[in-house]
Amino acid sequence: MTHIYNLQKKMLTRKNLLFLIKKYKTPIWIYNSEIIKKQIKKLKKFDIIRFAQKSCSNIHILKLMRKKNIKIDAVSLGEIERALLAGFKPKNNNIVFTSDIIENKVLKKVIKYKIPVNAGSIDMLKKIGKKSLKHPVWIRINPKFGDGHHIKTNTGGENSKHGIWNPKKALSVIKKYKLNLIGLHIHIGSGIKTKNLHKVCNAMKKYAIKLKTKIKFISAGGGISIPYKSKEKEINIKDYFSQWDKTKKKISSILNCSIQLEIEPGRFLTAQSGILIAKVYAIKKMGKNIFVLINSGFNDLIRPILYGSYHKITVFHKKKSKKKRKKIKTIFAEPLCESGDVFTIKKNEIIFHRKIPQVKLGDYIIIHDTGAYGSSMSSNYNSRPFIPEILYKKNNFVQIRRRQTIKEMLSLETLI
Ligand SMILES: *Cc1c(COP(=O)(O)O)cnc(C)c1O
Repeated sequence: MTHIYNLQKKMLTRKNLLFLIKKYKTPIWIYNSEIIKKQIKKLKKFDIIRFAQKSCSNIHILKLMRKKNIKIDAVSLGEIERALLAGFKPKNNNIVFTSDIIENKVLKKVIKYKIPVNAGSIDMLKKIGKKSLKHPVWIRINPKFGDGHHIKTNTGGENSKHGIWNPKKALSVIKKYKLNLIGLHIHIGSGIKTKNLHKVCNAMKKYAIKLKTKIKFISAGGGISIPYKSKEKEINIKDYFSQWDKTKKKISSILNCSIQLEIEPGRFLTAQSGILIAKVYAIKKMGKNIFVLINSGFNDLIRPILYGSYHKITVFHKKKSKKKRKKIKTIFAEPLCESGDVFTIKKNEIIFHRKIPQVKLGDYIIIHDTGAYGSSMSSNYNSRPFIPEILYKKNNFVQIRRRQTIKEMLSLETLI
């Protein structure tokens, strides 16, 4: 934790911040490649790390992953195209398509490139089976329980639409259509607690034994969280790995075949690398509340309003000051025409304040740990264009996505 904080501090010097703001204007996303590399290293004991690109899908981030020998997960045709564009070769199980449905245009693509499919429904297995003999497939198992930081990110149990409830039935479909089963996958949610880990490992073991079919891979899924709040602890990766490794070895000996252990993180690799910088445009006193209004809204970062997520906020004061600034209870709000457009919001939709050194007009706000499910969940709501993404590598800032223009945004509609 402290290590990552130091890397971020090294990047966010006064000089660098002034340079970035002048050159790219606000709001902007910045990613620190050093932090992504640091996170990758922490998982190096796993046989395969597969990046869940939905968390941060810029092709330059994907290229960075590829250069570090990371494989890739795609959940749509767009994500397959991104992976190909980033240079992933669709052999060696490099790209896996994970979904609960498969549309015709995706089916064509996965057949053309022989991309393995991690199937979350029996219907999609049938669809592939009818068109592509021996196609490599995984079964995504719903182990009948789930977990996650929010009900919306829980992907197991009977209230979740994800995965296959009856893997035995899936296996009979796989046999009927002569598909090639290569792996078993369980992902019970995003932001899972480690205390449930043994349950997941046991489920994997149970299903592997029940299916009694030789496989090449098991996947522990993603979902590893990061400490968003300073008092939160980082997950114990050593323990996480050892529980899964034991599970792998056990399955491997029972099925009498060698198995590779995959992990499929999104957030863990990118969340802490990213920040969002926005500018203060208004300070309003409403009764006893002080609202600081910035030029970025939930069109850019939707996590607070969608999940009640906490993101650390710091201030970059435009003017230097020798005196220590007074800390003031502040609510950070955004420009969109909706009262919920507030960054400091809790799960039950109640706004709350942060004690923050006094902010002045023209100062900048840095919203931390936004490298996952930040930019990739952005929208054009309120007709605000997508904002730039900048990658920090080797002491340099490289623009990896430019700002969308309003003309570009409107061009889809100028048909008649
Ligand atoms: C979202 C998702 C992940 C990644 O979740 P994180 O919490 O970002 O690690 C991994 N696998 C699947 C199938 C997912 O849907």
